Amino acid sequence: MAELSLQCPRCKASFSGEEADSLADLLIGHVEAEHGHAPLREHVLARIERHN
Ligand SMILES: [Zn+2]
Repeated sequence: MAELSLQCPRCKASFSGEEADSLADLLIGHVEAEHGHAPLREHVLARIERHN
């Protein structure tokens, strides 16, 4: 299974995962914890598709 990856738009930390859903959860959790706001899930999923 292909590995998906995505960078945090704020700090450029890289995240990777095997599924778009779990990768989106990972990035949303990171942005909430580190940057104090929750990105919209559909926007995160759209970015995962564009970048992979
Ligand atoms: Zn970040």
